[in-house]
Amino acid sequence: MSLAKAYAAASATSPLAPFQIERRAVGPHDVQIEIAYCGICHSDLHQVRNEWGNSMYPMVPGHEIVGHVTAVGAHVKGFKPGDLAGVGCMVDSCRTCPSCQRQLEQFCEKGCAWSYNSTEMDRKTPTFGGYSSSVVVDEAFTLKVSPKLDLAAAAPLLCAGITTYSPLRQWKTKKGDKVGVVGLGGLGHMAVKLAAAMGAEVTMLSTSKSKEADARKLGAHHFALTSDDATFKQLAGHFDLIIDTISAPHDYNKYLGLLRVEGAMVLLGVPPEPTPVAAIALIGGRKILTGSLIGGIQETQEMLDFCAEHGIVSDIELIPVQQVNEAYGRMLKNDVRYRFVLDMKTL
Ligand code: NAP
Ligand code: ZN
Ligand code: ZN
Repeated sequence: MSLAKAYAAASATSPLAPFQIERRAVGPHDVQIEIAYCGICHSDLHQVRNEWGNSMYPMVPGHEIVGHVTAVGAHVKGFKPGDLAGVGCMVDSCRTCPSCQRQLEQFCEKGCAWSYNSTEMDRKTPTFGGYSSSVVVDEAFTLKVSPKLDLAAAAPLLCAGITTYSPLRQWKTKKGDKVGVVGLGGLGHMAVKLAAAMGAEVTMLSTSKSKEADARKLGAHHFALTSDDATFKQLAGHFDLIIDTISAPHDYNKYLGLLRVEGAMVLLGVPPEPTPVAAIALIGGRKILTGSLIGGIQETQEMLDFCAEHGIVSDIELIPVQQVNEAYGRMLKNDVRYRFVLDMKTL
């Protein structure tokens, strides 16, 4: 067992503050990582503030973790001290259920062990996330990060990267496909980069006119303002695939009108309240409304390798951990350009 410095929320209404946690002793299959950087995902904010109604306190958020390996257990084969390593949203699963056998650990039938606001598979030991100085994780849930990538900017790949890569792959995005990305934040900007790298013709659908130039720099071929009703007339029936990353309640029906016949809209954002969907929005054109949750461990490694090959990382604002509460405030004002990353040496 070792002690680690951390930042934690004591309740849904308290700001994040310094805290100390215990990390388990390095077991035979474990990798111990000194955390260098941790991204701030909007899911951290939803959970810190108990917006999904399932929060456990004290909570140490953070599931976009990168750092250096400091120790490994006797049976670890893929990592040695000094290696770069990453940890995403999951730290364990049952490994035997049909979902786990299909490399879809995020849908483990026993419920996977999330990196924080969760328990280990013993269902007793709380898990604490990456806003901390170190972590101990089973090798099977530890990712390899290429030294070719800027380490701080690679951190958000562990959630924002895989969450957008997975549906693009599931819907077989290829050259020339018309992909709409809704919401230009952490997830949205990764969706633009990844879809463009797969050869898609990408349109950014945003409420923020001020982000147009950035959207084009990120790789979007077109930009459309969703606060303008004309957008929904001009682009009606246009898209093969829409990736919706909006974190707040909004009208899905309007966006379904932008899909071609049999086109698909994938919900990634998790607004706290449900939104009604009219049957007619799906029936006319046999449209598909679906969702996606991060990606399995094997696919996360595939995404990291894809990003290393294409030189893709996140556009980040690196901040000291003491500014985390301010960063949450800015995230709520859609003022993220385009992912905050905590520099853990400031802890
Ligand atoms: P973020 O950086 O805060 O970006 C969200 C973007 O959504 C904003 O930048 C804004 O883009 C748009 N937006 C926000 N409020 C809006 C509103 N009221 N109406 C219209 N557009 C609005 O958040 P993120 O980290 O990308 O996360 C986005 C969502 O995905 C969150 O709900 C998060 O919990 C969820 N998430 C899901 C998964 C998964 O596996 N499914 C994984 C990670 C995160 P514009 O300024 O361009 O309009
Ligand atoms: Zn996340
Ligand atoms: Zn399982």
